[in-house]
Amino acid sequence: MTRLHVFFFPLMAQGHMIPTLEMAKLFSSWAVQATVIVTPRFVTPVENARKSGYNIGIHVMKFPPKNSELLDGITSLDQMNSDDMIITFTRDLELLQEPFENLLEEYHPDCLVADMFFPWATDAAAKTREDKNVSSDSEEFVLPNLPHPLKFKKTQIHNFDDAGIENDFTKLSTKIKESETRSYGVLVNSFYELEPDYADHFRKVLKRNAWHIGPLFLNKKGEEDDKAQRGNESAIDKHECLEWLNSKEPNSVVYICFGSIATFTSKQLHEIANGVEISGQKFVWVVRKGKDEDQNENWLPEGFEERTRDKGLIIRGWAPQLLILENKAIGGFVTHCGWNSTLEGVCSGVPMVTWPVFAEQFFNEKLVTEVLRIGVSVGSKQWKRVASEGVEREAIALGIRRIMEGEEGAEMRKRAQEYKEQARMAVEEHGSSYTDLSALLQELIV
Ligand code: UDP
Repeated sequence: MTRLHVFFFPLMAQGHMIPTLEMAKLFSSWAVQATVIVTPRFVTPVENARKSGYNIGIHVMKFPPKNSELLDGITSLDQMNSDDMIITFTRDLELLQEPFENLLEEYHPDCLVADMFFPWATDAAAKTREDKNVSSDSEEFVLPNLPHPLKFKKTQIHNFDDAGIENDFTKLSTKIKESETRSYGVLVNSFYELEPDYADHFRKVLKRNAWHIGPLFLNKKGEEDDKAQRGNESAIDKHECLEWLNSKEPNSVVYICFGSIATFTSKQLHEIANGVEISGQKFVWVVRKGKDEDQNENWLPEGFEERTRDKGLIIRGWAPQLLILENKAIGGFVTHCGWNSTLEGVCSGVPMVTWPVFAEQFFNEKLVTEVLRIGVSVGSKQWKRVASEGVEREAIALGIRRIMEGEEGAEMRKRAQEYKEQARMAVEEHGSSYTDLSALLQELIV
């Protein structure tokens, strides 16, 4: 087990410093790595504690800080001999925010105990990003404070304020987060049994009201036409599509689709075609028509369609995804991990090859591959919404084979079938989603 590292940050006044140092000593006697942040004035008491055997770390912070109006040598509250000076001192406390944030970025403590006179410290701690601590794009880091130790690469986490520059999107994103915390609660298109640790985390740790009332599409009493035309006009006649699928063995076809937004370069489409062919599996592949592809189809390898005539179906445009996934012939799903597609994959009970591209898809990938263990990652490394590329044919073929063949695939399928069953039960009368919705409506009525 790694040692907990706790930062203690007292106000520079004896009445705050003394008990904080006592607290740091207490923590250190519990095998915690304790570090106290002090101004030069308070170095001696910490040094004394160290000499008497406490293994306590120390960081000295310059005070008065840069741009202060206080005279050098003024380093604690007891030296303020006028009310005006106290006001300047208070202003100076805020100037500590930047050097303090730099310290957090550098050391990444597990916990920060900050004096109440540093109210900004809470936000500073929240904004400390693990990914800034990695030295290269390929190095992995664990996303903190989640129920599982999930590892990501920096390039998989997109952040619109990466360069610290505010733009319209960062402003919107801040407003979204604020409005979510102020709202009465969140309706989640998921079901409790799929992610109990995360549902509990959201409610109990983040203390948000949440009602898991999905999968919403399972409540559809609609006809097949409705399923075929969700969101867009289908690019293939549903009868033709079903006829093709119905002529295939159960679990023998892999369905490949990347949602409604992501686009790939022609080079990447070419790799997909080769990967699919190398996998030797039957397939339905949905290719979103980008601008280039409208003009020419040079992404298709020479003779691809002739060679795969009996094996594959390419849908150029919008596919009736739900109808396809529900079909018995479908045995696996290569998905970009959009949340809707992920949920639709879960509900069809098939293992998945995860190929996240942008948005929160890299997080959904971890749910599928590491938490639910019903899929394998294709190894997508780069967050990129438009003209994405970088996944090679061998990785694609291997991913498809792993979910469609052998014992590993069979085990994932078994688990996926269990989630499929639980999803259906969740939306039935007295299931978890039914009960959550009913509880919300009750709450709203009274
Ligand atoms: N979809 C579809 N046919 C397509 C592409 C997408 O029916 O050819 C549907 C898919 O079933 C899902 C939604 O569009 O319900 C896509 O949402 P998701 O969250 O998976 O990804 P996004 O499009 O937002 O990236």
